[in-house]
Amino acid sequence: MMEANSPEIVIIGAGMSGLAAGIRLAMFGQRVCIVEKHTVAGGLNSFYTRKKRPFDVGLHALTNYVPAGARGTPLAKILRQLRIDREELALAPQLGSAIHFRENRLAFSNDFSLLENEIAREFPRDIDAFKKLDAFLRTFNETALDAAAGSARECVAAFIKNPRLADVLFLPLSYYGSARPNDMDLPQFAIMWKSIFHEGFSRPPDGVRRIIKLLLKKYRAAGGELRMGRAVTQLRARAGTVREVVLDNGETLAPRLIFSSAGLPETERLVREENAAGNEENVTGSGEKKRAAPGELAFCETITVLDADPRRDFRWDTTIIFFCDSDTLHYAPIPPPTLVDQRSGVICIPNNYDYATAGGAAAAGDDGPADGWLRVTALASYAGWRALAGNDPAGYAAQKRAWHTALNTTARAHLPPVADAAFNAAVLDTDMFTPPTVERFTGRLNGAIYGTPEKRRDGTTALANLFITGTDQGFLGITGALLSGISMANLHALR
Ligand SMILES: Cc1cc2nc3c(=O)[nH]c(=O)nc-3n(C[C@H](O)[C@H](O)[C@H](O)COP(=O)(O)OP(=O)(O)OC[C@H]3O[C@@H](n4cnc5c(N)ncnc54)[C@H](O)[C@@H]3O)c2cc1C
Repeated sequence: MMEANSPEIVIIGAGMSGLAAGIRLAMFGQRVCIVEKHTVAGGLNSFYTRKKRPFDVGLHALTNYVPAGARGTPLAKILRQLRIDREELALAPQLGSAIHFRENRLAFSNDFSLLENEIAREFPRDIDAFKKLDAFLRTFNETALDAAAGSARECVAAFIKNPRLADVLFLPLSYYGSARPNDMDLPQFAIMWKSIFHEGFSRPPDGVRRIIKLLLKKYRAAGGELRMGRAVTQLRARAGTVREVVLDNGETLAPRLIFSSAGLPETERLVREENAAGNEENVTGSGEKKRAAPGELAFCETITVLDADPRRDFRWDTTIIFFCDSDTLHYAPIPPPTLVDQRSGVICIPNNYDYATAGGAAAAGDDGPADGWLRVTALASYAGWRALAGNDPAGYAAQKRAWHTALNTTARAHLPPVADAAFNAAVLDTDMFTPPTVERFTGRLNGAIYGTPEKRRDGTTALANLFITGTDQGFLGITGALLSGISMANLHALR
């Protein structure tokens, strides 16, 4: 049944990029509808409640932190384009993070000079090369939509001859935004270099909830329509254009434009195109733009809620630690039967932000998370966890428990020691997600958080009125996805 008052623009997904695109479009008077299959907004970075306690799905850090007043930065652009007051986000800067790579231990913060001094201390012979690489990356135009992908490994190797230092630099940048095994696209590497090393980490006191609520408020105030708990099941195309968007309740919409944040391969699988004989087929793999392969890098994350203040009670004062316990970095898919690769990973303690000096609501007395939190992320095997989840639910639950313990043990070896008895006594609750969890809640094939390695930087697809936003357009993370939604809406609908 065709809707009488069909929106002009449909956005698939109420994640960061879908909401940002929606706000821009609604703000400029477009009749826009976001269709989100989940009942909660946020996508890969959403939230949930367990035993009355608020959990963030993902948020370790909002990257690209800059102090108030800084202009021309990605954060400033997002705030300006979405008309958000910085005060409303109440961003608290990180206390300080670290890279632990075997015997090399380097601190870094939102002040780039700390990292530079640490490199000079740990890698004195390579500091000049590091400075030259930094100078090159600072002037690199990573946001150009026609920037060639290129290998970041090859580029870095042209400057840095010490393979350990190269791995040290790739460790945090890969974990926070590479869809490519053992490499990164050069523009993405340059983005992450500036986002993490030059600008840095921050977090609202109440985590991702604040960001999502703010985006929803702006979207609704601008007149945007939102359909939650409603999936797009088909994009019916004819003669190279999507004519109808079919929803899971049988409704059909006929928008002029469609923006999809569901992922490129995931979106391609929704398309049914009528061929010359009048029969429907999925043709997104035909023509010049071949069908994209799903990403293969998948992760798991353990969450431990503590009846303790990590800093005061355990002397755990680092915000994020990127660790690698092997001689070289292995950032690649894991073949089963291995379920988790804990040779490297990320440890995050969301309590360790400077909530006391944050602006906005934090100044009004919100001093960050009520409990202590420890989050540990590592590469995980989609196929291995999928097989368990499908065939052996009891085994799946048992493996989750076992890996939760193993990852916490690995993480605690990178933190000041706390006796097992004291740590275990402080545990209030635990949770863990695996690649099938990500796939189930967001539709990302293989649970690949960073999507396909084949990005579409200009957002175009084989169909004239269908555009990709967010992860598979090539801008990753919360800041990247927000920027992507803004720039795709500006480029394809508002120009
Ligand atoms: C555990 C974890 C930790 C993370 N930590 C950080 C962090 O600390 N900092 C950071 O910057 N980034 C982090 N990220 C990455 C960040 O969350 C993502 O890069 C970003 O949110 C991606 O946004 P997006 O709009 O591209 O896509 P998504 O968030 O995937 O949004 C797509 C939306 O589309 C919906 N959808 C899919 N198919 C359909 C359909 N057929 N019909 C209707 N709706 C559909 C999905 O349900 C989803 O809501 C993390 C991610 C995870 C999973």
